[in-house]
Amino acid sequence: MTSSFPASTVPGYPRIGPDRELKRALESYWEGRTGREELEATARRLREDTWRRLTALGLEGLPSNTFSYYDQVLDTAVLLGAVPERYRRDDDLATYFAMARGAEGVAPLRMTKWFDTNYHYIVPEIGPDTVFSLDAAKPLAEVREARALGLETRPVLVGPVTFLLLAQAAPNSPGSAGSPEGFVPLDRLDDVVEVYARLLAELAAEGVGWVQLDEPALVADRTPAELAAVETAYGRLGRLENRPALLVASFFGDLGEALPVLAGTPVEAVALDLVRGTAHGVDALAGKTVVAGVVSGRDVWRTDRERALATLLAVRERAGRVAVSTSCSLLHVPYDVERETGLDPVLRRRLAFAEQKVAEVVELAHLLAATPDGRPPRNDAPDRLQPRHDAPGGHPAQSCAASGPGHSAAHDRSHTSRAVEGRAPYAVRAAAQAEHLKLPLLPVTTIGSFPQTGELRRARAALATGEIGEVAYESMVRAEIERVIALQERLGLDVLVHGEPERNDMVQYFAEHLDGFAVTRHGWVQSYGSRCTRPPILHGDVRRPEPVTVRWARYAQSLTSKPVKGMLTGPVTIVAWSFVRDDLPLREVVHQVADAVREEVGDLEEAGIRVIQVDEPALRELMPLRRAEQAAYLEWAVAAYRWATSGASEHTQIHTHLCYSDADQILAAIDALDADVTSIESARSRGRLLGAVGAFPRGLGPGVYDIHSPRVPGVDEVEHLLTGALRTVPAERLWVNPDCGLKTRSYEQVEAALANVVEAAARLRERQA
Ligand code: GLN
Ligand code: ZN
Repeated sequence: MTSSFPASTVPGYPRIGPDRELKRALESYWEGRTGREELEATARRLREDTWRRLTALGLEGLPSNTFSYYDQVLDTAVLLGAVPERYRRDDDLATYFAMARGAEGVAPLRMTKWFDTNYHYIVPEIGPDTVFSLDAAKPLAEVREARALGLETRPVLVGPVTFLLLAQAAPNSPGSAGSPEGFVPLDRLDDVVEVYARLLAELAAEGVGWVQLDEPALVADRTPAELAAVETAYGRLGRLENRPALLVASFFGDLGEALPVLAGTPVEAVALDLVRGTAHGVDALAGKTVVAGVVSGRDVWRTDRERALATLLAVRERAGRVAVSTSCSLLHVPYDVERETGLDPVLRRRLAFAEQKVAEVVELAHLLAATPDGRPPRNDAPDRLQPRHDAPGGHPAQSCAASGPGHSAAHDRSHTSRAVEGRAPYAVRAAAQAEHLKLPLLPVTTIGSFPQTGELRRARAALATGEIGEVAYESMVRAEIERVIALQERLGLDVLVHGEPERNDMVQYFAEHLDGFAVTRHGWVQSYGSRCTRPPILHGDVRRPEPVTVRWARYAQSLTSKPVKGMLTGPVTIVAWSFVRDDLPLREVVHQVADAVREEVGDLEEAGIRVIQVDEPALRELMPLRRAEQAAYLEWAVAAYRWATSGASEHTQIHTHLCYSDADQILAAIDALDADVTSIESARSRGRLLGAVGAFPRGLGPGVYDIHSPRVPGVDEVEHLLTGALRTVPAERLWVNPDCGLKTRSYEQVEAALANVVEAAARLRERQA
C-alpha cells in the first residue's frame, strides 16, 4: 500500500484519438454502420497507443480509466449503479448511450460545462432512493488491459464529493423543486463512499498500487458542510485496511480551505494545480506526496522551465515528497504540435500540445531529481503564480519576448476604463423595433447554424488543399444559403438566418479572418461525446482587416423580405474558445476582440441587416470559480459585450445567445448585456430555468428543442414547454427557438423538429388572440 508515487505523471490524456478515431467509431456505431466489436477494437487501440506513447516519452506514472466512450462523469454514474430506471436496457452500451444521447421516448440526461472549460459532462441524477451498486468492470478492465501490455497503471476516477456536487437531485425528489430544506445529492455521501470503499478493495485485490480520485469541485468555494463531507469521505476511505494508496487530485485552481481538510485525512498524495493556483499552505501536506501540476494542461504554451523548477524546489522544501505533473488532465489540449507543419515556425516553437507537455513533465522530473535538496528555491516563487483572471498568468517573460511588435501598444491602451455609451432604454428600443420589424407574437427563430452537410465539409477541405477554387466553393455556399432561406420560408419561421454554411466553427471562422490568430490543422479537443473543436491560437494583437460576415448576410437578406439575423460570435466566447496569449490580462485581450466585433456590427447595419445576434455562449464558462473574483470578471466581460454591440441604432434588434441552463446564476449579468432578445438553453432542464427568469425584463427565448440529441420533439411537447414559459414570460416578450445551433443535426431531423416548433407556436398564438 505504501509504494512511492512515480516521479512524473499526468492526471489524464486526450482520448478522442490523434485523428479523431473515436469520434468516427462512435458515430458509425450510433448510425448502425458498424457493430460493438469495431467500436471496442478502436477504443482498445487508442488506449494502447496512449499508454505506449506516454511510456516512450519517459513518463513513469501511467493513468488508466481516463478513456471514455462519452464522458467520465457518466462513467462514474455507471460505476456506482446510479442509472435512472428509464434508461435501463438489456445491453449495457445501449443503457450508457441512452443516458448520454436519449433514446426512443426518453430525453437524455442534462449536459453542462465541466468547470471553466469547454468540455461538457453528463449530469448524473441522484435521488433519496437511488440504489447504488458497484460495477467495477471498466476500471478493472483497463488495469488488466495495460498489464497485458506489461504496463502498470493508476486508475483515475471522479471522486465521491465532486461526483455528488456535480449531480442533480432526481426530478421527483423534493430537492429538485429547489426547496432549501430539500434533498441534495450530497446527502447520499455515506452510501456512495461505501461503493468507493468496495471498489478500492477490488482494486487492491487486483494488486493496484495507486488510485487517483479527481476532486476539482474543491477549488471552488465550499460550505462548511461540503468541507465536512471531504473529511468524512477521505477519512473513511483513508482508514480502509485493504486499499491502494490514494491520490486526491485537484485542478483548475487553488484548494484554499479544502487543503488543510485534505491534509488532515490519511490519503497518501494530493495533486495541486500550480499554474492556476498557488502553493499556498502546501506545508500542511508534509508527509504526503505533492503531485505538483507545474506544466499547464489548459494552454498551449511551452513551460518556463526555470520558473517551474523553482516552484518544484519550493514545494519540495516545504512539503517533502514531490512528483511532477501537468496542472490538470491533458484532455483540454490537442495531441501533438509537431503535426502542425502549416504554422509559422516561430510561433510553433512557442507551442506545446499534450505530447510536448508530457515531455516537459519528464524533463522537469529529471531536473528536480538532479537538483540536490537544500538548494535555495527562488524566493517564494510558487506563491507568485497568479490566478489567470487577475493578471497575465503563466510565463510573462517568455511570451512577451515572443509576441513581437505591437504588443506594447496594446498594453498602453486601457480598454476597461473606456466608457461604454449606452443605447436608448429597452422600452424605447422595443417600440422602435416593433415598428421596424413588424414581427408576430411569439416569433419563431433559430440560433444560427443549419446542418453542415458532408458535401460542404468536403468542399471546404478541397478548398484548403486547392482541389477546388474559391469561385466553386463560394457558389456552393450561396446555394446552401438559398436552400436554408427557402426552407425557413416554407416552414414559416419569422426571423431567418443564413445558416452559417461558410463557417467551419463559430470561433475558428472569425479567427481565420482576424489578425492575431493562428489556426491548426489537427488541433482537435473534445467538447462533448464525439464532438470536438479546434480552438484557434490567439497569439498577437487582434485586428479586423476587413468585414468578415457582411457579404453572406447581405446575400441572404436579398433572398427574402423577412428579416435575416446577422450572426456574430461575441468577444468573450471568441477568447474563451481559443488558446490565448498569456502576456496580457485576459480582459485586455477580450476588449481587443470587442473592437473588431463592434466594427462588424456597424458594417452589418450599414448593409441593411435589421437583427444582429452576438452569441456569448461562453460568458459563464470563463467565470472564475471563486466567488470573490466573479464580480470583477462579469463587469469587464459585460463591458466588452456592450462595447461590441452598443454602436447599433435603436431600430436594430440585438440578440444574444447563451448555451446553458444554469443561467440563473448570472442573470444579472445577462440582463446587463442589454441585448434586446436573449435565447438560452432550457429544453433539457425541463423549464428549471424559467423559475429564475420570471423577472427578466427583455425578450427571452428559452430553448424548446434540445439540439444536442437526435430526438425530434413533438408538437405537444413544445407546446407544453411554451405554455410553461408563458407562466413567467409575458407573450409580448417570449421568443420561440431551439436550444442552440442546428449544425450537428441532419436536415431530416431539423425539418421535422422546426415544423413542430412552428406549429406549437401557431397553436399558442391562436390561444393568445
Ligand atoms: N450561432 C451559433 C450556431 O448556431 C451558436 C452556437 C453556440 O451557441 N454554440 O451554431
Ligand atoms: Zn448555443
